[in-house]
Amino acid sequence: MTNWNQGLTGQSKPGRTVQPPGGCTADRCGHEYTGRAPNGMTRVRVDGSREPERTYCKGWCAAYGQALAEIRTLPEPEAAQ
Ligand SMILES: [Zn+2]
Repeated sequence: MTNWNQGLTGQSKPGRTVQPPGGCTADRCGHEYTGRAPNGMTRVRVDGSREPERTYCKGWCAAYGQALAEIRTLPEPEAAQ
């Protein structure tokens, strides 16, 4: 008889804590880019996105901003019929 899941049962360990970038309190994070990114920050711009060019903390916030900008290159959903 096979041992399902190699005998691993019960609750899995919780994943690492993920801070939602929306809760980031860094000054300028997520603000529109104004020509110069502060130290430790990077600008995110995606061609064809409805998101303007924005400044984010390097790392997680920038990854979030990039994903958001990429999603917003997609056509807007049609209004409900
Ligand atoms: Zn941030």
